[in-house]
Amino acid sequence: MSDNSSSSSEGRNRSGGHHRCNFCGKPASKVKRLFAGYEAFICNECVILCHDILDSSPDETVPEEILEVPKPSQIKAYLDQYVIGQETAKKNVSVAVYNHYKRINEMTKGRRKGAKGDSEIIELEKSNILLMGPTGTGKTLIARTLAKFLKVPFSIADATVLTEAGYVGEDVENILVRLYQAADYNQARTERGIVYIDEIDKIARTEGNPSITRDVSGEGVQQGLLKILEGTVSNIPPKGGRKHPEQAFVPIDTTNILFICGGAFEGLEKIVARRVGKKQVGFDAEIMNISDKSPDILEHTEPHDLLEFGLIPEMIGRLPVTAPLRPLDRNALFAILTEPRNALVKQYQKLFEMEGIGLTFETEALWEVVRIAEKKRTGARALRSILEKSMLDLMFETPGKDNIDEIVITPEVINQSGEAKIIHRTKKKTA
Ligand code: ADP
Repeated sequence: MSDNSSSSSEGRNRSGGHHRCNFCGKPASKVKRLFAGYEAFICNECVILCHDILDSSPDETVPEEILEVPKPSQIKAYLDQYVIGQETAKKNVSVAVYNHYKRINEMTKGRRKGAKGDSEIIELEKSNILLMGPTGTGKTLIARTLAKFLKVPFSIADATVLTEAGYVGEDVENILVRLYQAADYNQARTERGIVYIDEIDKIARTEGNPSITRDVSGEGVQQGLLKILEGTVSNIPPKGGRKHPEQAFVPIDTTNILFICGGAFEGLEKIVARRVGKKQVGFDAEIMNISDKSPDILEHTEPHDLLEFGLIPEMIGRLPVTAPLRPLDRNALFAILTEPRNALVKQYQKLFEMEGIGLTFETEALWEVVRIAEKKRTGARALRSILEKSMLDLMFETPGKDNIDEIVITPEVINQSGEAKIIHRTKKKTA
């Protein structure tokens, strides 16, 4: 094929006449480029159009089944490497994910075998997951780690942004656009992906009363989300937004996309405690509220509590698996600093190792990080920023200094009242 660009006279005049694109019929003078093939031409515009069509077609090489669905215990063992504590949540999620991908395989097999009527296929219901727990306790981390393990595309959406924009339908579709982009614009992979929708509790009705008119938009967004949670074919603009009106829409079937919704659900403990209390001790207000402070209170959550919290019944129905996350206590925060595969301490050690410097944290220094983090009440989220702040000067000053053998981080470095211990190399080879 040769390029018969309109800027060169070659294309138009090779045979003396004016060539046209054999696809759209435009003459060479009306397009930027015209490519010559064997007795035919194609213009740059048609090339782009064909490229878009190819991009939006399902990739035949992607298998429809995830052939070896890992067992729940294997899923949990992987999560254990990254997520500290949260045993109940990890267990619930592992079972739900296992069932989810087993369900996909079963349906795919059913279709392949050519099961005729609905009667032949036992419809396994989709098990989207609701993670409930305070901020910084590992909700996003669990969702992200799952996707990494299963090697499926993953994207995060924020439910509160959907509320603000107003254009409910379109924005809800943008959740899928992001997943499609994470799947490298591959439709089949998108349709097996995992979406994490954060702050789902923020779009709840403010009160459990269905007739309340405040925060109607919250309910509107919930309605918009329902369809994609349940399973629908949504036509998405692959590049998102409306900036590219020329783009062809891509149909994405959300039936097999796993949605994990998360939120802090502040105040839900009180609702649960009140109900549990009522059951146990009648209507004594004093005793009823006692257990709303206990760390496992959300493990007793029932659909009715979520309804009272403000989620609409249809939404609750589409999130059949609920997994509570506990507030992280000081031991958990300490473990998060050192134990996960990519623990913060290990990351800093790696960074310094690359400079040829050993890095040690005194145990007391790590406890000091935990103490400061506890005060911030943002769960494990605070750990990184506290360490970043304490380590800044060292990370600024040490690169390039080749006489440092080891740095020891003391509690004083963390609370910024003193300096690190620096152990210099003994000058053995100065010859
Ligand atoms: P959220 O519950 O608000 O979604 P994230 O999962 O985003 O919180 O956690 C914030 C940060 O804290 C992450 O960087 C994560 O590494 C760390 N983190 C939170 N909880 C845990 C946990 N249980 N185990 C290990 N790291 C955690």
